[in-house]
Amino acid sequence: MSQGTSRSTLAYGTLFIVSAPSGAGKTSLVRALLGRLGDLQVSVSHTTRPQRPGEVDGVNYHFVGVAAFESMIERGDFFEYARVFDNYYGTSRPAVQALLAAGQDVILEIDWQGARQVRAQVPEAESIFILPPSREALRQRLSNRGTDDAAVIERRMRDAISEMSHFDEYRHVIINDDFDTALADLESLIRANRSQLARIKERHAPLLEALLSHGKGVE
Ligand code: 5GP
Repeated sequence: MSQGTSRSTLAYGTLFIVSAPSGAGKTSLVRALLGRLGDLQVSVSHTTRPQRPGEVDGVNYHFVGVAAFESMIERGDFFEYARVFDNYYGTSRPAVQALLAAGQDVILEIDWQGARQVRAQVPEAESIFILPPSREALRQRLSNRGTDDAAVIERRMRDAISEMSHFDEYRHVIINDDFDTALADLESLIRANRSQLARIKERHAPLLEALLSHGKGVE
C-alpha cells in the first residue's frame, strides 16, 4: 500500500471504485456495464474466503490461502487490501497497472476500506457507491440468496448497514431502484469521465494534432 501509483504510470486508463452493500445489485450492474462499454475491465481480486458454488477461480476471484495472501502483503503486491467480514480481500497492483497502461479503464469492486486506500494513492480515481432502494428491498435480496436462517440474514443486514454508513465518502451515489436506470447512470458516469478535457488530450493526442495543425488544408 505504501508505493504510490502515480499518474505518470496511469498512461490512459481511469480507475473506477464501485462499492455497495451485498444485496444492492453491484455485481449484476457491473456485468451489464461491461457489455455496453469497450476498453473497460473489472479487476479480479484475491481473497481468502471459501469459493462459493458457481464461482470460478481466476474469474470471480483468485482464491488463495491466508499464508499466500500474507506473503503478498509482505511483498507489497497489493494496491489495496482489507479484512472484510473475517476474510482478506485485495487488489493486485501489477495486474491493475498493466490494464491501465494498456489504455483500459478499470473497475475495482471493493469495500469502503479499500476505497480509502485507493483514493489516498490516486486522487483522480472516480468513486461510486450503489445503494438499494429501501431497507425492505435489501432484506428481501439478502434472504433470497439461499436457505439461510434468520440469524444469518440479520448478520448480513448488519454488515450491509455498516458498509452503507460510508456512502458519503464517495463522489457519486446511485440508487438501484430500477436496474436499467441505475445501469444508464453508471454508464453515463464513465462516458462523462472519458469526455473530460484531460482525458481527451491523453487519449486523442494524434487526432487533436491533426485537427488543429496549421498547414495543408487550412484557409
Ligand atoms: P463477497 O465475499 O460477497 O464477494 O464480497 C464481500 C465484500 O468484499 C464486498 O463488499 C466486496 O466489495 C469486498 N471486496 C471484494 N474484493 C475486494 C478487494 O479486492 N478489496 C477490498 N478492499 N474489498 C473487496
